[in-house]
Formats: sequence, structure tokens, C-alpha cells
Amino acid sequence: MPKLALQIRAQLSGVKELRPSTDDAQLVTTVKCTSCQEEHAKPVSFNVTDEVEVQGGRGVANFVMHCGFCKNQGSAKFDTPTSKVPLWQSYTGPDYARLTTLEFRGLEPVGFQADQMTWRCAGEESGTKFDDIALEDGEWTDYDEKTNNETSIMEVESKWVRA
Ligand SMILES: [Zn+2]
Repeated sequence: MPKLALQIRAQLSGVKELRPSTDDAQLVTTVKCTSCQEEHAKPVSFNVTDEVEVQGGRGVANFVMHCGFCKNQGSAKFDTPTSKVPLWQSYTGPDYARLTTLEFRGLEPVGFQADQMTWRCAGEESGTKFDDIALEDGEWTDYDEKTNNETSIMEVESKWVRA
């Protein structure tokens, strides 16, 4: 079953190392059943510490659902991080880069709700910590008091690609 990497792209100004504020940040995405191809109306949400048993002796995943149309079981599981490939990769831009990787069975993600996640980043030169960032409408602006620079995150985009 495919492993998919969630990639993001954003215009960072005065900041670097954008990533979710905590390792157990909630990932919010819309999902589609790969059996009947129906897209589920409500986005789903899960994190790496959620543990749900997958029916059929397939171990544990972070998210399991049964399709409301065809009853097919679908699951999602964060890829086990390694020293080279962390759970969440910090983003500094400007091109698309991997944020995290998941293994999907029976369902696939459609989009990613970046505005539903809490983020953090650091001042580009100062290292000033910005925590609890909300990307309302995909944008955030603040002010780095150490460097007297305006800071911003704009035009956040995302896509899923085969890992
Ligand atoms: Zn289905």
C-alpha cells in the first residue's frame, strides 16, 4: 500500500524552520475511499499518538474508518521516524518539501487543512521562537523584536506525493 508524503510550500519572510508546534499535532485532511472512490464529506483528524487496531490482524494504525458507502476499512499510519527522516520535517522554503510521511490502506487523503494545525517557526537570523502560530486563511504575520523585522508566512500550499 502506498506511502504518501505530505509536502508543503510557503513564502516565509524573516522566519525559518516552519513545522507543527508539537510532534502530536492533529493532522486534518479529507479522505477518499479507494474501494468505491467516494470522498467523505467531513474532514478527519488524527495524530501520531492515536492508536487504533486495524481489523484483520493488520496491527495498529493512527486512524481507522469504515467507508459510509461501501463499508470498506481504511487506515492511516504515520511512517516510523528515523534519525535521517524525522516525523515532521522543518520547512524553510521556497520549494515544495516533505513535511511528514504516512502509509494509507483503503483510503487516500485529499488535501490538507494547514489552518487547522498549530505551527511554530524561528526568526531567520535571530532564532526568535514563534510558537502557537495559526495560519488563518493560510497566512500569518508577526514582528521579530530582536531584529525589528516583520515576519510572515504566506501562500501556504500542500500536496500529497508518493514517497
Ligand atoms: Zn467506499
